[in-house]
Amino acid sequence: MPPTPPKRRGLPPLALALCYAAVIALPLLPALLTGQGHGQGAMRLATGAGVVAAGMILLQMITSGRFEAISGRIGIDITMAFHKWAAPVALLLALVHVLAVIGLPDADRPGRLARRVDLVLSAPGLWEARLALILLAVLVSLALLRDRLGMRYQMWRAGHALGAVTLVGLVVWHAVNDGRAGALGAALWILFALAVTLPALWVYAVRLIRPNRQGWTLRETRPAGERLWLLRVAPPEGGGLRFEPGQFAWVAFGRKRLPLHDHPFSIASAPGEAELRFLVQEAGDFTDGIGALAPGTRVSVDGPHGSFVPRGEGPLVLVAGGVGIAPILSILAHLARSQSRRPVRLIYAARNAEAMVPPDLYRPACAALGVAPILISERATDGGALLQGPLMRGHLAQAFEGLDPAACEVMTCGPGPMMTFVADTALEMGVPMQAISYERFSYAAGRASAKDRRILAGFAALWGAVVAMVLAYWLA
Ligand SMILES: Cc1cc2nc3c(=O)[nH]c(=O)nc-3n(C[C@H](O)[C@H](O)[C@H](O)COP(=O)(O)OP(=O)(O)OC[C@H]3O[C@@H](n4cnc5c(N)ncnc54)[C@H](O)[C@@H]3O)c2cc1C
Repeated sequence: MPPTPPKRRGLPPLALALCYAAVIALPLLPALLTGQGHGQGAMRLATGAGVVAAGMILLQMITSGRFEAISGRIGIDITMAFHKWAAPVALLLALVHVLAVIGLPDADRPGRLARRVDLVLSAPGLWEARLALILLAVLVSLALLRDRLGMRYQMWRAGHALGAVTLVGLVVWHAVNDGRAGALGAALWILFALAVTLPALWVYAVRLIRPNRQGWTLRETRPAGERLWLLRVAPPEGGGLRFEPGQFAWVAFGRKRLPLHDHPFSIASAPGEAELRFLVQEAGDFTDGIGALAPGTRVSVDGPHGSFVPRGEGPLVLVAGGVGIAPILSILAHLARSQSRRPVRLIYAARNAEAMVPPDLYRPACAALGVAPILISERATDGGALLQGPLMRGHLAQAFEGLDPAACEVMTCGPGPMMTFVADTALEMGVPMQAISYERFSYAAGRASAKDRRILAGFAALWGAVVAMVLAYWLA
């Protein structure tokens, strides 16, 4: 009998958005309510934009995907997308702050503009502000261009984390020293910085120490397809991991410790099984050497994370592409073990038959659930067991045969374009948007699905509210 799943953690999206807006608004509120603060128009805009940019920068520390209270319900994809796009918005507001400090040319005060530019560029007391702005611009640019610049992911991540902590220090230094915060304001900024930085550092410190002591060991690494490996990981004596089907864990091997050398992998085994299984596709520096790991190697496991978990009661349509079959295997095995009566359909697509996992990894669960998998390959030949790919609308229509799309839940994991296609097509076919979920293995942007666009519109509304706060403060 599968164990009871862990309690679902994480706040719902609306609660998160309200908390975010409230925390950002807090430093502006006293001045807004009392009418006190900078009297001069442009300087009020500078203060408003600067305070809001500082708040957004500080909050970036806890939207980096490591806090289950934030990402537990909305998922790591959405959390990371928010983190990624909030940074350029904060940068824009920081630039508005600087431009407003400089102000517009004033015919009545000749030379003022030049003095202001000089102040911003070379006043000795503003060195930390200049450094913060440059650092913010560098962090944002590197994060957006990382893939194109061909930077090693681990190098980028270490630099990003160090840069972020430094940036928080500089921003708070600037707010306390150069802002008109007063003693209470200064104390609040310092508390705010500690409140976001300490939990982030704590998460990293705990991950550095704890999982290494857990005693997970690699039982076996075996080929499971073209450049694809199945890892079986044995639990520590008397230990194990409680997780929900479809979740993932951060994993590191041997002496390479979490969180400096970890990688996220979906758990391919079902909750309650004696071992954890992972399917790993060779994709770069670390995964290319996965097949050489020896049995007995120590494994650090930090999990569970993620919200790619079946939630509905009605028919479930699962669509996997390539290594995206990993979380789907966990879901199928879990449904079979719990003798689920949900009607289940499975589409599994890969570039060729050799890239597919051995049928013994999914056939037993499919047989128990009465599922006839629809297998698709781009290089299928006529008359073979596989349908001709790539995945098309007709394949999805086949999966939905006899089902009411409005009652279905659709879960898809695989290459970005495939997931976008599945999500958009399922929506067109009548599946409710909230019943469609996907797990991205790469945070890099691909073409956005209608659901992604809806989420981005939600982000834009939140940032619009933040900008409205700045304008309200300016014009109040
Ligand atoms: C939630 C989630 C679940 C995943 N599940 C699986 C799975 O079950 N099987 C599988 O084969 N792959 C999975 N991946 C992808 C896997 O983590 C990357 O392929 C792997 O980390 C690549 O590491 P590398 O050093 O070999 O390649 P690199 O060349 O270093 O990286 C290739 C790309 O992988 C991503 N990546 C690399 N390291 C990390 C990291 N530490 N954290 C986040 N992204 C990283 C980056 O986008 C990078 O551009 C998953 C990713 C995510 C986000």
